Amino acid sequence: CNERGDPLRLIGTNWDITAQKEAAEALLRSNRQLEAEKARASELAIEADKANAAKSEFLANMSHEIRTPLNGVIGMTGLLLETALTSEQRNYAETLRNSGESLLHLLNDILDFSKIEANRMELEEVEFDVRELLEQTVAAVVAQAGAKGLELISNPDPGVPAMILGDPVRLRQVLANLLGNALKFTAQGEIEVSLSMLSSGPEGCLLRFAVRDSGIGIPANKLQTIFEKFSQVDASTTRRFGGTGLGLAICRLLAECMGGEIGVNSQEGRGSEFWFTIRARCGHNQEEAAREACAVKYLSGKLVLIVDDNQSCRNHLQRRIEAWGAQVECADSGPAALQMVYQALAVGKSYQVILLDLQMPGMDGDAVGRVLRGEPMLQGTELVALATTGGNYGVQRAEASGFVFCLQKPVRRQELLAILSRGCGATSAEAPIRPTENSEETALAPARILLAEDNPTNQQVALGLLRKMGLQADAVGDGNEAVHALCQKAYDLVLMDMRMPVLDGVEATRRIRDPHSGVLNPGLPILAMTANVQASDRTRCREAGMDDFISKPVSPEQLRKTLAEWLPTKGTKQSARSKAEAKRTDQAAPAAPAEAAEVPVIYDREGVLQRMMGDRSLATIVLEAFLEDLPRQLLELRRALDSGDAHTAGRQAHSIKGAAANVGGERLRTLAWVLEKAADGGDLDLVRRSIPELEDKFQQLSEAIQQDLKAG
Ligand code: ADP
Repeated sequence: CNERGDPLRLIGTNWDITAQKEAAEALLRSNRQLEAEKARASELAIEADKANAAKSEFLANMSHEIRTPLNGVIGMTGLLLETALTSEQRNYAETLRNSGESLLHLLNDILDFSKIEANRMELEEVEFDVRELLEQTVAAVVAQAGAKGLELISNPDPGVPAMILGDPVRLRQVLANLLGNALKFTAQGEIEVSLSMLSSGPEGCLLRFAVRDSGIGIPANKLQTIFEKFSQVDASTTRRFGGTGLGLAICRLLAECMGGEIGVNSQEGRGSEFWFTIRARCGHNQEEAAREACAVKYLSGKLVLIVDDNQSCRNHLQRRIEAWGAQVECADSGPAALQMVYQALAVGKSYQVILLDLQMPGMDGDAVGRVLRGEPMLQGTELVALATTGGNYGVQRAEASGFVFCLQKPVRRQELLAILSRGCGATSAEAPIRPTENSEETALAPARILLAEDNPTNQQVALGLLRKMGLQADAVGDGNEAVHALCQKAYDLVLMDMRMPVLDGVEATRRIRDPHSGVLNPGLPILAMTANVQASDRTRCREAGMDDFISKPVSPEQLRKTLAEWLPTKGTKQSARSKAEAKRTDQAAPAAPAEAAEVPVIYDREGVLQRMMGDRSLATIVLEAFLEDLPRQLLELRRALDSGDAHTAGRQAHSIKGAAANVGGERLRTLAWVLEKAADGGDLDLVRRSIPELEDKFQQLSEAIQQDLKAG
């Protein structure tokens, strides 16, 4: 600038920022574009989600719709198979039925899968005994495992809370699926189902279930994909074992729905362990806590011997029993057990309870039991049989061999607790032994059911349930069709809807019971299915000749329980008819022994033979042993009464009942049953008054048996 301040020179830089500006604008544009894309993407995602849910919903609906006619196809094929067919036609029809059944199975899986994906799977939250559920699920496959010669172990950890809040149906589904796979892929060895608690806090606990098998295992490179839908280890698996590859995918989804996860550890050729976790809140159960406290009171410090050749069995029994405060020793064979018992006697100690596995190589539990029972020094020792379903080692054999207490394998916690407490001095009131559900007693043997029901949905539901229970079932839509079907084919039981068109349930029952109706088996059990459970309805049903009721809507538990009462159960060879007759007898069974004389069967010769699988010489041995042993048992009972010992009296009546049942002595059994109940309820007077009658019944039975034995 000059002195006046006018500018003389100008210095500056010229910078062309066009490119920068353009770049910034481009960036802005692409940002806007990106935003738009993002918005579009999330719109698309929402749409895709909706589409996916709609697809799953559609699938769910479709599978449901397809199942209805499919049930018809399968039912009809079943009927077709019962008609006279050439062997070629039979072959075609059987293939048709098998294909129909696998299609139904697949549809059920798809239905589940799509329900979960469409978020339509509603989980219940009810309080249930999780250890009991585990044991029931295991018990349901006892027969299958037995048929393959597999050892089955259920092993809930003592620290797991008894009652939890959750969805027992879905939990059972996952467990049953994993168990089913383990059975499918294991040819020999064992399957162990365990349950433990990983953590617990105010918000609930994390439970871990595991199913371990000694089967074919899974190659390492397949472990990642095994939980994907439609994934199988190799295509030949499907050919060899069947299956859809959906089972594990469903298990994964269900485990996730229950707040947990699922995984597998496996070694090819060695076996697999599938595990899953669930989160659940703990429930309250005073009863359980009281039972545990009672067990600890009696078991604490007592010495228990476990005799079993299977190590996993020994280990888990030992862990359980020790958790109740007893001291446990184990032997892996009969001779080892005898040695331990005599060594113990030599140093002045004795076992309070000895658990004996009936099925052991070499010297089995029965043989050990015979030796020990003859030992006067072991009077105070309680022998408990560990029985396996079916074959020669079942509960029946245990009872026939004189075991008062018998546990069905896999051993259930509450039964073990009750029997051990009883063995250590608890009374029957303190440690009631509840009949095992779903185990040998209630696992149903294959039977053929006729379902008379006009509503297609109800029909479908009942058929589904029956098939799930391993029963064959055909459905008809009215009473007339029911009578007609029963004339064509021999069924074991009828489930009869009360209200049906053409001919209702009551009238149909009357016709079936009519000996001139042409029905092949007019004496078969008929169970009414009714929403009306008023006393007057029941009377009407009974008068028409119906045996029992199932209330509608039909629940699986109730159906199974009622069926188990009327159908032969697994491990018995009794026909549905003879069981039904025994059951009718039981129902008519008196509260007071005076009326017991009405019971018709003194000696069920056929039943005994059937139970001994037609083996006459075995039947003779059992019958002779019974004749020899029962007077001793009666004497014991009288002694117990003399000393006012209700506990022993109840136990004696129980063992008389078992022995009588074994030789088909229905009257004696019924009376002993009444007396057992009376003794357990502390009513020794009633028992005392009934002794002459009991002896009389034994006398009648003994004469009938002797006659039979003489006749050869
Ligand atoms: P699938 O209906 O085919 O059994 P899953 O989803 O239940 O379907 O199982 C998928 C596959 O995982 C099976 O086909 C089999 O190859 C493998 N798998 C499942 N469980 C076992 C097991 N316990 N042992 C060996 N392989 C198994």
